Amino acid sequence: RTMATYSITPPSQELLKPIHVPPKTLMGPGPSNASDRVLKASALPILGHLHPEFCKVMDDIKAGLQYAFQTKNPVTFAISGTGHAGMEAALMNIIERGEVFMSAVKGLWGERAADLADRLGADVRRISKPLGEVFSLDDIEKGLKEHKPSALYLCHSESSSGILQPLEGMGPLCKKYNCILIVDTVASLGGVPFFLDELDIDLVYSGSQKVLSAPPGTAPITFGPRAIEKIKNRKTRVPSFYFDFEGLANYWGCDEGPRRYHHTAPINSMYALRESLAFLAEEGLEKFWARHKECAELLYKGVEDMGLKMLVPNKDCRLPCVNTVCVPEGVDWKAVTVYVMSKYSIEISGGLGASAGKVWRIGLMGENATKENVERVLKALKEGIESVKAGGK
Ligand code: PMP
Repeated sequence: RTMATYSITPPSQELLKPIHVPPKTLMGPGPSNASDRVLKASALPILGHLHPEFCKVMDDIKAGLQYAFQTKNPVTFAISGTGHAGMEAALMNIIERGEVFMSAVKGLWGERAADLADRLGADVRRISKPLGEVFSLDDIEKGLKEHKPSALYLCHSESSSGILQPLEGMGPLCKKYNCILIVDTVASLGGVPFFLDELDIDLVYSGSQKVLSAPPGTAPITFGPRAIEKIKNRKTRVPSFYFDFEGLANYWGCDEGPRRYHHTAPINSMYALRESLAFLAEEGLEKFWARHKECAELLYKGVEDMGLKMLVPNKDCRLPCVNTVCVPEGVDWKAVTVYVMSKYSIEISGGLGASAGKVWRIGLMGENATKENVERVLKALKEGIESVKAGGK
C-alpha cells in the first residue's frame, strides 16, 4: 500500500472552536496570576537558543536569581521545566545509586523527594513530623547521626500544609555531618526572607509560577561549592542527559568554555521569567517580603474574626504564601471552593496529602499578594461557608 491510499482521520471539532480561557484570580497553592508585563514578554518574537540576545536574557536571569536567592553562587540558572524538574535535577545530580538519602517529611513534598530518590536507587531514610509541625535542629541532628546520609531534603515551603521550615543553623549542621543540604523553595522564593549564602545551603531550587508570578515551566536552581564538588566526584554518570549538571552549567555560561547547545530552552518562558525577576529587583526583596507578611497577617485576622482556625499554631512557622485554614466540622470544603469559583472566579483549594479534607489552602503569592485580594477572598470564603451550611451549592 502507498500513502495515497490511506484515509485521514478528521481533527476534533472542539479544536476548531476558539480557545476558551476565562480570567480567574488564582489564590490556591499555585500557579498565581502573571502581570501584563510578564505575559507581554512571553509573546515577544522567538529567538534561537544561542542567539546573543537570548544569551543576554539568560545572563539577566542568572543575575536576577542570584539576587532572589541572595547568593554569589556562579552556578545559578533556571531548569527548563516546572518545580518537579528542579527537584529531579537536584536529586539526580547529587545522589548516586546505593547512597543514603534522608528526607525530612512533614507533608507531601518530603514524601515526593523520598519517592524520587527511591527511583534513583538511593537507600532512602525518612524522618517525620506530624501535620503542621516543623523540624528543630535537634530533630535533624538526630537523623543525621542515626542515618549518616550523603544528602538531606528539607522543604522550606511545605505548601501541602502551609508550613515554613526555619533554616537557621541547618546548613552548618549538615556540613558538620558531611551531608549535602537540598532545600525546596518552590512556594517561598521571594515571599519570605531567604539568604542562601548566609544560611550556607548547598543546593536550592524553586518554581516560576508561585511568588515570581511567571508562567509555570521554569525552575530556578543554584549549586553551592560543596554540591558541585560532590557532583564532580561522582563515580557514576548522572542518569539523565536533560538534567545533567555539566551540560546545563555550560549552556548557561557558568563554566569557562563557549556555550554549547544542550537543549532548546523554552525561549518565551525565559523572557517571562526575566521580566518577573526584573519586577522583583525593582520592587526590592524587602518590599516583597513585607507585602506577603502584611497580607498574610490580614488573612489570619479575617479568618479568626470568622471564628475559623489556622492549621499551623505557631505564627512564625506559617508560610505566608500558602495559608492553611482549618475546615470547620460538618462543612463540605469542596462545595465551598466551588461556590467561591463560580460566584467570584477565585481559586482556593483543598488540602493535599495528609492535609486533604482538613484545610483550605489560600495562596497569597506575587501579583496576587494584595490587601484587596485578601479582602475579596475572605468575603468569598465567608459567603461560601454560609451558603454551603444553609444547604446551597
Ligand atoms: N515543591 C513544592 C514545595 C511545591 O509547592 C510544588 C508545587 N506545588 C512543587 C515542589 C512542584 O512544583 P511543580 O508543580 O511546579 O512541578
